[in-house]
Amino acid sequence: MKINTNFDGGSIEIVDATDNSNVQLKLGKENNSDNTQWFYFECEASKNKSHTIRIVNAGGSSFPKGWIDYQAVASYDKKKWFRVPTQFDGKELVIQHAPEHSVVSYAYFTPYTLEQHQALISRAKQSSLVGHTNLGISSDNNSIDLLTIGEEDKNRQKVWLIARQHPGETMAEWFIEGLINRLLSGDESSKKVLQKSIFYIAPNMNPKGSFLGNHRTNSKGLNLNREWDNPSRIDCPEVYYVQKMMDDKGIDLFIDVHGDEEIPYNFMMGGHSSCQLSKQADEFKNNFAEANSDFQTEVDYNTFHNGNVGCCGSGCGKKNLSKATYYVEEKFKCLSLILEMPFIDNANAPDENVGWSAERSYQLGYSIVQPILKTL
Ligand SMILES: [Zn+2]
Repeated sequence: MKINTNFDGGSIEIVDATDNSNVQLKLGKENNSDNTQWFYFECEASKNKSHTIRIVNAGGSSFPKGWIDYQAVASYDKKKWFRVPTQFDGKELVIQHAPEHSVVSYAYFTPYTLEQHQALISRAKQSSLVGHTNLGISSDNNSIDLLTIGEEDKNRQKVWLIARQHPGETMAEWFIEGLINRLLSGDESSKKVLQKSIFYIAPNMNPKGSFLGNHRTNSKGLNLNREWDNPSRIDCPEVYYVQKMMDDKGIDLFIDVHGDEEIPYNFMMGGHSSCQLSKQADEFKNNFAEANSDFQTEVDYNTFHNGNVGCCGSGCGKKNLSKATYYVEEKFKCLSLILEMPFIDNANAPDENVGWSAERSYQLGYSIVQPILKTL
């Protein structure tokens, strides 16, 4: 089997690919850290013949529990993605699939490449409602796109959303695409929300990490969501420049969009520092569940991990200002929420063909306008 990862977001290492019934691969390390989880590769395979692809180091990845009940995604055209039979024995992740075409791609989740990101920015910029700022360019040619949607007016609420601090959490950008399209749709809710507010949106906080096929870190090996207390302009320009813009514009509502490797539900956490913010967070979550049945309020880091902290760590009750939601809540004294979507599926509404998907992430983003409108 011929395997190719030489493209935007590609990542896997070949151990031995000579036998299609026993292809052995390894999750690749990120370019400057030991994290492993994301994979995305293209194969030249034998049409309609069963292939067994073993990812032999899956048990030692950053989130090994994320492989339990997990099914890999596959595509013949890199547009339509579907789940394929996948098993995990605690050590190896084994994909067994008879592709219907001779070229097939496999990935951890439906990719959202840097090229797709750039196309999203270009499309959005065609609207007269949208402004675009390129925040900071670092030595590795890393720059962050910030979209503003709506009119600048000191009486309007400032709504900030950022996504893909962890670049492998591609569902976060599918979510943002849904939100942007809703805001530009001109429907009643989007008109109302833009009368009251202006949106500042960073659809991809970690474009270089996305391009490199990293799951957790930027090109310098830094986990952006551990750098908010003191980001380096040189090594962490992504957070440094976004913070500068936040200081300049102000924030009334902040949402940091992520994906969780293990928890098969959509959930939010936030409102840690006061009863008032905690109540606002609960109201937001209830309104979100009303707007989209894929969102729920029963399971979160605390209930799922019995008090232990999950991927992005809003569950511990302590302030950790290195994380975006805590930093923003502390500094701007506003409602600051983390959103997690699953890699696996929504266990309350499982779909065996696609699991949790790009389309469902998009729809969730489309529907978050409703709880935002009720909060303003
Ligand atoms: Zn994350």
